[in-house]
Amino acid sequence: MKKILSAIMAVVMAFAVMVPAFAADKCNCGETPTVYVAALGSGYVMLDEGTENERVLFRPETEDILKILLPVVPAAVELIATKNYDKFGDVLIGCVNEAFGMLALDGNGNSHPRVTSEQFHPDTAEHGGDHSYYFGYDFRLDPVEHAKNLHSYLEEVKELTGHDEVKIRASSMGGVVMMAYIRLYGTKNIETIIFQNCPLLGTAVAGELFNGKFEINKDALVRYAECALPAIEIDFVSGLLYALCEAFDEAGIFDALLGLVDGIIVNLKDRVFDECLIPIFGTLPGIWSFVPDEYYESGKEFMKLDPATQAGLIAKLDFYHYEVQGKAEELLRGAQADGTNIYIVAGYNMQRTPLVTAYMETSDGTVDTKYASCGATCAPIGSQLPEDYVQARFNDIDYISPDRMIDASTCMLPECTWFVKDMLHSTTHDGHGVFYDVLFASEEQLTVFDMPEYPQFMQNDTINQTFVPVAELSNPIEDAFNMMKTIPSFLNFVKLVATVLETVVDFVFKTLIPAV
Ligand SMILES: [Zn+2]
Repeated sequence: MKKILSAIMAVVMAFAVMVPAFAADKCNCGETPTVYVAALGSGYVMLDEGTENERVLFRPETEDILKILLPVVPAAVELIATKNYDKFGDVLIGCVNEAFGMLALDGNGNSHPRVTSEQFHPDTAEHGGDHSYYFGYDFRLDPVEHAKNLHSYLEEVKELTGHDEVKIRASSMGGVVMMAYIRLYGTKNIETIIFQNCPLLGTAVAGELFNGKFEINKDALVRYAECALPAIEIDFVSGLLYALCEAFDEAGIFDALLGLVDGIIVNLKDRVFDECLIPIFGTLPGIWSFVPDEYYESGKEFMKLDPATQAGLIAKLDFYHYEVQGKAEELLRGAQADGTNIYIVAGYNMQRTPLVTAYMETSDGTVDTKYASCGATCAPIGSQLPEDYVQARFNDIDYISPDRMIDASTCMLPECTWFVKDMLHSTTHDGHGVFYDVLFASEEQLTVFDMPEYPQFMQNDTINQTFVPVAELSNPIEDAFNMMKTIPSFLNFVKLVATVLETVVDFVFKTLIPAV
């Protein structure tokens, strides 16, 4: 009798535990949970975690980096005196290996056992209003592996919140992870995906570096520094720095500095590749996922991937490249066919990383516009499409930007791809939040033609934290003046003054003096 009683008690208690779980199962708040699939650097990578020697390998604190790189300074001073590049190379390569060597993966693309990374799990049931769940990962590893973790993460979010669906905002490398997710699981339980500045088709900086096309261009370097200035929160400081950059450039200071750097590149490039880049970064599937198709096979050769000892790694790289990046259009259109709204946001008119031969490609500073937008035709940075250029596809709809820098008709999803002029890579303000809320709120797929306040081509206004429609271009002074009028910041004022001065100097030296 006792046994029967305890059996009944056990059943009753089991139900008592289960019932509240059933009751909490569904949430009717009407707000689908949002998950932010974060960018590179979202998860910590640790060496000897939990021991007294624990060290953050990525992202290291600035002071740790400085400590490791400290020996480079006296070595550089010695280099200027002796021109002994090999000796300098020993110090430099030694330091880089000390800082990043343990990041390297084995022949199967797996981490060293002493290196571990942060794991992410949703930690709250709160999901309304501005709350957004955060998913991060170890940037080194195979995006397909992250996609599997993301799948469990989304299941946990659904269980925790009592919603069947989620909305996704993917930023930068987060888009790579998301594409791998779509390839593996489809998008049946995903309402909406926003891809923000994602290297969906790669980025030239990875492709060119993995092909040894390393090059530093002075003009690109100056423009790169100047493009980053609006991200500084104090407008006066950014204006001042802009003026300094221009003055240093005129005085030839950057040229002198680059002369020095050029010597280092000519003398040490091969060693840096053979002793750092290939053995460390060449083993990371995360970085390989950024390599665009036209650089991929030649890159595998240049980075000396060995089919015998690195077969497992190569299989991972090939799967992402050919099954995910190579099928981007199919995956995105498939997601839409399954009822998921897809939005792509790409920045343009920013100077790309000035270390590679492709420095003339318009970008958000990190990802080339043509790759982030899945195929836009773009004029080189600072210029326009040729006067006789005709839109490539869909001639009944206007897909050319008012400043004639972009033809969006060649995009995979031209009607759902937005371009934000002067948007720095994954650097957002409140205006982005408002725009994304509008996209997230719509049950139907919105297009670039649906909202007059959000046309396909929008000028980023970091001062007023909003967007204004991109304007037509006329001549540099008038453009700078109009920009100052639309977005009245000290930085734009300095840019206007610099443009006027440059035009006057050009006129004097190129027109007046040769005429005399
Ligand atoms: Zn809810």
